[in-house]
Amino acid sequence: MPELAEVETVARGLRPLEGRRIVSVWFGKTDFIAEPQRLAALLPGTCLASVNRRGKLLLLELQPQAPAVGASGETFWLLIHLGMTGQLVLRDPSQPLAPHTHVRFALDDGRELRYVDVRRFGRMRIATVEELAEIVAPLGADPLEVSEDEFRRRLSASRARVKSILLDQGVLRGLGNIYADESLWWAQIHPLRRGAELSAEELGRLWRSIRNVAREAIRLRGTSVSDYVDANGQPGGYQKRLRVYRRTGRPCRRCWAPIERIVVAGRGSHFCPQCQPARRVRSNRRSSGGRKKRLGS
Ligand SMILES: [Zn+2]
Repeated sequence: MPELAEVETVARGLRPLEGRRIVSVWFGKTDFIAEPQRLAALLPGTCLASVNRRGKLLLLELQPQAPAVGASGETFWLLIHLGMTGQLVLRDPSQPLAPHTHVRFALDDGRELRYVDVRRFGRMRIATVEELAEIVAPLGADPLEVSEDEFRRRLSASRARVKSILLDQGVLRGLGNIYADESLWWAQIHPLRRGAELSAEELGRLWRSIRNVAREAIRLRGTSVSDYVDANGQPGGYQKRLRVYRRTGRPCRRCWAPIERIVVAGRGSHFCPQCQPARRVRSNRRSSGGRKKRLGS
């Protein structure tokens, strides 16, 4: 469930911890962690050098202070994917443990960073600099950084349904079901349209919609429709802005038609049947000519 805006909000909440040292690590269930013994051996004594995000992946850069025997002493990365219900929250050790707390990182300022995950679809692993490069290489462009031309090129190269293209982390990194549905509503594009069939104008509208939705969602600190909270345990605010996501049967905020839900690429997709027509509406011949020219150039 946590997408770009939620992971970015968690990353920003963790950034004040840069420079802090991990004193010790405690594990509960570890079936979602790759090589938990390696984490247990490497993490204690490391300094949190930086907090980054790539798509939906949180990247914590760790600098060993006094390298353990057998450790290289080089910087490495702790990768955390929050999956469906993962939470990473800062707590005072005196605060009771929430159910489903699976990892606790004790910090040198006396606080604890706790990983809570009801469904355990999250993932956690250590990566060397080389391993990290391999892991992030297949990820597509950042929706907030990709240029309009590059965005058009990536989407029009695919015959897949536009909704599945938006969810494909190899095309764009960080978008999930919520922001894909919301962006398609703002751009007035039906989720079943095919990437290659979208006009240059429609792709431009979609590019702008995704940026606006992502920026606004980050500004409001994410969307809390189920378990998502930020690093301080606070819910986000974008759920109040949702236009289609989980609004099936309720009136469209643009035209009052009831919002519909279909399944695309195995995911529930919410859209307005009136504002987001299944077929392209050709408003005039000039716009279709413009599209041909752009595709051929
Ligand atoms: Zn509508």
